[in-house]
Amino acid sequence: MRSIAIVGAGQAGVQLALGLRQQGYDVTLVSNRTPQQVLDGRVMSTQIMFGDSMAIERDLGLDRWQDEAPTIEGLSFTIALDAAKHIDFEARLAAPAQSVDQRVKIAAWLREFEAAGGALRIAEAGVADLESLAASHDLVVVAAGKGELGKLFERDAKRSAFDGPQRVAAVSYVHGLRPRDTFVSCGANLMPGLGEYFIVPALTKSGPCDCIFLNAVPGGPLDAFGNVSSPEEHLALTKELLDKHLPWEGERAAEARLTDAGGVLAGRIPPTVRRPVATLPSGRSVLGLADVVVLNDPVTGQGSNNAAKSADVYLREILARGADRFDADWMNATFEKFWEYARHVVRWTNGLLPPAPDHVVALFDAAQHAPSLASAIAEGFNRPPSLDPWWYDADAAQREIAAHRNAPAGTGR
Ligand SMILES: Cc1cc2nc3c(=O)[nH]c(=O)nc-3n(C[C@H](O)[C@H](O)[C@H](O)COP(=O)(O)OP(=O)(O)OC[C@H]3O[C@@H](n4cnc5c(N)ncnc54)[C@H](O)[C@@H]3O)c2cc1C
Repeated sequence: MRSIAIVGAGQAGVQLALGLRQQGYDVTLVSNRTPQQVLDGRVMSTQIMFGDSMAIERDLGLDRWQDEAPTIEGLSFTIALDAAKHIDFEARLAAPAQSVDQRVKIAAWLREFEAAGGALRIAEAGVADLESLAASHDLVVVAAGKGELGKLFERDAKRSAFDGPQRVAAVSYVHGLRPRDTFVSCGANLMPGLGEYFIVPALTKSGPCDCIFLNAVPGGPLDAFGNVSSPEEHLALTKELLDKHLPWEGERAAEARLTDAGGVLAGRIPPTVRRPVATLPSGRSVLGLADVVVLNDPVTGQGSNNAAKSADVYLREILARGADRFDADWMNATFEKFWEYARHVVRWTNGLLPPAPDHVVALFDAAQHAPSLASAIAEGFNRPPSLDPWWYDADAAQREIAAHRNAPAGTGR
């Protein structure tokens, strides 16, 4: 049987490893942390996953938490100006979304991988490890996320819109957030010029919780977490900023308390697309997967979804390859199959980082009075290609608004 090595045990790496094991492949997975260290560590994401991504996990039998994790029925959007709601609407999703703390999910999946006969190696892999894996396996996939190893893959200047991070993220996992009045939603508050605030209902180690997430424009008033020295201070500062800039959200968060000492996260992500194939000193090729090759700002909540979808594409292509060589041409072609989808995610996500163009504000404005347009915007988070062309083109946006006006929710148009 063919042997595959995967370096990096996140959503993409472990999902692919488990998928390949199910097909009888000989799989070596290199993780820089044991399952227990993952579980005991710090949170890594807010990891909302939408219907199509959840279906991929379901098809692989990996959706262990569907009954326990809060069902996210829809999305709610606010555009806030000067600490007041300027635009406000909500929409149910066609299929619900969910968020399972990656500490819980990855630790369990790693244990499942070992139980399924996979070879789990605990190591911080470097180039020498990649060489030795490439010499002993038919294919090496690098799924090391934002780790240093990704730098082996050349940045693709044509496909990368920015030179550096466009936001500074500050996440807290909390219990005690006051629920919304209508349905359970993932909330997005957009503060033009300042950044965003998201609320993602999730399942963590201590049960259902909310991930509250400030995504700050660098150098702006929300970029204030640089000198924070404890998780408690991180949450206190989050509440202070909410009280000042989004008072209705500050009120909801008044009684919020951290789920655990590892329940905070701060960092900057440089949106970057890289070339999918790296050549090792020996001349052997390795293939990059998910965040290694397509890293997005979390503003649209797409990274874990991309990870699931790219691992799914790679799994299918590996199976379809049969006994043929996994050469660099096959690697490039495999990535391009994913890129055909991911280019939409990158375009949409990058477009939300600078101030929104007038036609996007007009779409949000119209969605307040056109439920089917609100639904179409929400569905874009599940399937970003559906936003093309009306998200990007002012004339197409006007046509889309006109078509949705007066159409009832859920009927499309
Ligand atoms: C603040 C924030 C909020 C987010 N919210 C969302 C959201 O709501 N929805 C969404 O879809 N996405 C979200 N994302 C993005 C999402 O979490 C990531 O895109 C996704 O986890 C990427 O999966 P991955 O498998 O590529 O990489 P990762 O999940 O980063 O996994 C890579 C793994 O490889 C390991 N590793 C690294 N280097 C090495 C090495 N040398 N040797 C061995 N192991 C190594 C790492 O420790 C890690 O465990 C968010 C991200 C952030 C930062």
